[in-house]
Amino acid sequence: MKKRIQDFFKHYMRRGISFRRCLKELEQARKYSAQELKNYQMEKLRRTLKIAFENVPFYMALSKEKKLGLNDFKTIEDLHKLPIIDKKYVRGNFQSFRNMNFRGPVFKGLTSGTTGSPAKFLRDLGSINFENAAIFSQQRWAGVKDNDRRVWLRGDSVVPADQRNPPFWRYNRFENQLIMSSYHLAKQYLPSYVEKILEFGPQLLQAYPSTAYVLSQYLESKDGYLNIPVVQTSSEPLYEHWRELIIKRLRTRIIDYYGSAERVNIAQECPAHEGLHLVSGYGITELIPAAEGAGQENEGVIVGTALNNFVMPLIRYKTGDVGRFMQFDCPCGCKYPRIYPIETKVENMLVTSEGKYISPSIISFCFKKSQNIEMSQVVQESDGGITVKIVRGQKFLARDGEKIARSMRDILGADMDVTIQYVDDIQRSKNGKFQFIISKKSNSLNGES
Ligand SMILES: [Zn+2]
Repeated sequence: MKKRIQDFFKHYMRRGISFRRCLKELEQARKYSAQELKNYQMEKLRRTLKIAFENVPFYMALSKEKKLGLNDFKTIEDLHKLPIIDKKYVRGNFQSFRNMNFRGPVFKGLTSGTTGSPAKFLRDLGSINFENAAIFSQQRWAGVKDNDRRVWLRGDSVVPADQRNPPFWRYNRFENQLIMSSYHLAKQYLPSYVEKILEFGPQLLQAYPSTAYVLSQYLESKDGYLNIPVVQTSSEPLYEHWRELIIKRLRTRIIDYYGSAERVNIAQECPAHEGLHLVSGYGITELIPAAEGAGQENEGVIVGTALNNFVMPLIRYKTGDVGRFMQFDCPCGCKYPRIYPIETKVENMLVTSEGKYISPSIISFCFKKSQNIEMSQVVQESDGGITVKIVRGQKFLARDGEKIARSMRDILGADMDVTIQYVDDIQRSKNGKFQFIISKKSNSLNGES
């Protein structure tokens, strides 16, 4: 009963008037010319700045000290007049980032990170509605209809972890949605998942890359298929070899999206599947070098300014993610700027024996040729040594392990200490996410300790 009420409330929030307004705005903005987009974004920025200068102690003090007013912000570039803030700073000065005069419901957001400590931030209903509308509009963009059947496989537990028999799911009638547990994706239970999805016949699967991958991996082992027209993934990196297997086994098109944990920006794959479009009305995105002299032009740590959150407007907030802008217009015609898929949290980069940072997608190539691996995870200890955890498939041979260790050393340095460890399972983090790379060494870059 309690779940039912929650479902209804969520549905009401998700599809209410404010949600519809956001959806309309998003679908209009997607057709704007480059100049129209600039104006639109600037208008939203000025609205956020006005609220910050008048109600948020940190920005009130700053505008007084630097004699800055709304009139000093005529273009997006004028944002440079304001300082970059980060997780640590906001955590230490939490109250001074809060809108003192905000009236209305306030929601707590919590960022996660397996190695970093979580950060707290506040959101209002408008920000949540805009977010939900953005996710929904991407589904529409891919051809999903509003009331199509959808499966949700995104970190929910649904049933007790020690439950041994199906159902490992429940149906939410308000959303026409089957919510499946992400904690029972084990060999012995996967046949019941496949059977249930076949029976339900969804048009859309909303998943973490890792949960869609585990399902596809199981189908691969049985040479089975599902037909799910669209899979929408996010929240974890989507590696190329994962994408290929998901497309093949679920007979699907994937639309991936990236959202920063503090909700300062969102970027979405369009029907042309060429990179991710940064949704201009959601936030402003800048890239700054990860470390002095690091990276190439158009590449760096993502800094975002949220445009729809008035209870705690985060302006020029430095996330822990690394991104790269794409040049040239997208064939889909949308003028939102684009970035390459985000694979890299700073905390997910490996450090070579020479001190170079290597992104997970490069490491994932070491695993590409081994078809006999069910799941793997690479951990770099704080002393730099690498442990590769592998869940072996039926046809796995000892030489597959040797091959992986060898190709890791090719990338990370011949003297790198690489240990292969065979395990039965790889744990997800508390929020159900899977991390392919865990680096205990690269965190210093992220301002974490
Ligand atoms: Zn596009």
